Amino acid sequence: MAALGNPVSRAFARVLADVRAGDHPGRLADYIPELAKADPDAFALSAASVSGHTYAAGDSTVPFTIQSISKAFVYALALAEHGVAAVTARVGVEPSGEAFNAISFDAQGRPANPMINAGAIVTTSLIAGATADERFERIRRGLSAFAGRELRCDEAVAASESATGDRNRALAMLARSSGALDGTVDDAVEAYFRQCALLVDTTDLAVMGATLANDGVNPVTDRRIVPSIVARDTLSLMSSCGMYDRSGQWLFDVGLPAKSGVGGGIVAVAPGEYGIGVFSAPLDAVGNSARGVAALRMLSEGFGLHLFRHPDRPVSPVQAVEIDARTETVTMRLRGVVDFVAAEQIAYQAAETMDATGSRTLVLDAADVAASTRVAALLLGDLFAHVREAGADIVVVDPEGTLDPS
Ligand code: GLN
Repeated sequence: MAALGNPVSRAFARVLADVRAGDHPGRLADYIPELAKADPDAFALSAASVSGHTYAAGDSTVPFTIQSISKAFVYALALAEHGVAAVTARVGVEPSGEAFNAISFDAQGRPANPMINAGAIVTTSLIAGATADERFERIRRGLSAFAGRELRCDEAVAASESATGDRNRALAMLARSSGALDGTVDDAVEAYFRQCALLVDTTDLAVMGATLANDGVNPVTDRRIVPSIVARDTLSLMSSCGMYDRSGQWLFDVGLPAKSGVGGGIVAVAPGEYGIGVFSAPLDAVGNSARGVAALRMLSEGFGLHLFRHPDRPVSPVQAVEIDARTETVTMRLRGVVDFVAAEQIAYQAAETMDATGSRTLVLDAADVAASTRVAALLLGDLFAHVREAGADIVVVDPEGTLDPS
């Protein structure tokens, strides 16, 4: 038999071809000469699923600097290191609605959020390290753990960022004056410049995104990188602030948490499913990869990824109900994953059938239940207590312990 290849990579290749055929004008970033040297034609799309499989199409081994995409992951590292209270005391969680390098501070003197430069420089400064080098090395190791391989810095890009970085120094100075930034301006910005110059490819971005999709565990290396709550908090901010001053439009149209960088990369996350990395260097008017945005729009539409669209009705968790009048028993045969919605249906149907038939025993047969969630256990536990209180018996057949409402 010929090798099967895989349908995901082939679907991605079609997306790349369709976007290439369309008109998505963009311009290379040229605020430093190194970025203007990028190949405007290179275009790649990768994904990594929470099961740890990776897929790629196009120029997926072409390296580019991570730039602002690093902000999301360094924020995650800062949250993991200090906890949400200490971090939000210095950096807010509100979209700024302004350009990434705007002078944007709230009434308390905090940068609006960690996805704009002012906020990112503060989060970088929160990563432990006696010097900028130590801080950067800790960040490099953290981002490498997200990617599942050792990332390295493009020192030429970092040096030019530093040589032209006065606006970022000014932002750091303002953050220092308001008390959001401790330590020296140079320590914070030099680590920030180098973090932005880390080299990645689209598969690295996909795995980094998949780690957030997978509750903070890198699905390729199986290592926990950040706590579950940190993955959630990071994705929340990527949803509201990840795409510069197009974040609102992005959530509206594409409906996925994402973060872009001036290097032409974008990471997007389908929570619980997969991470996606895309790269094409030419940028649109707000600084997002023009083809990258087009590819992710197409993917969101074609793969039905928008978080707020749920056209499919869930399969009923109750596959059969048997009523035995002689023994006054109602038996419900359950199936699938019992989550909140499923537990709600089970409880509703159980109450209705028990009341209508005046039965004295409720049997829940969970042999075909694959798993249940904590909230389902809570609701079903409450149902069982009330069945007993009403003077009826409850029997749970749970050979695999998959329902376990105890
Ligand atoms: N290093 C760039 C800067 O701070 C990153 C900006 C970006 O990707 N938007 O200006």
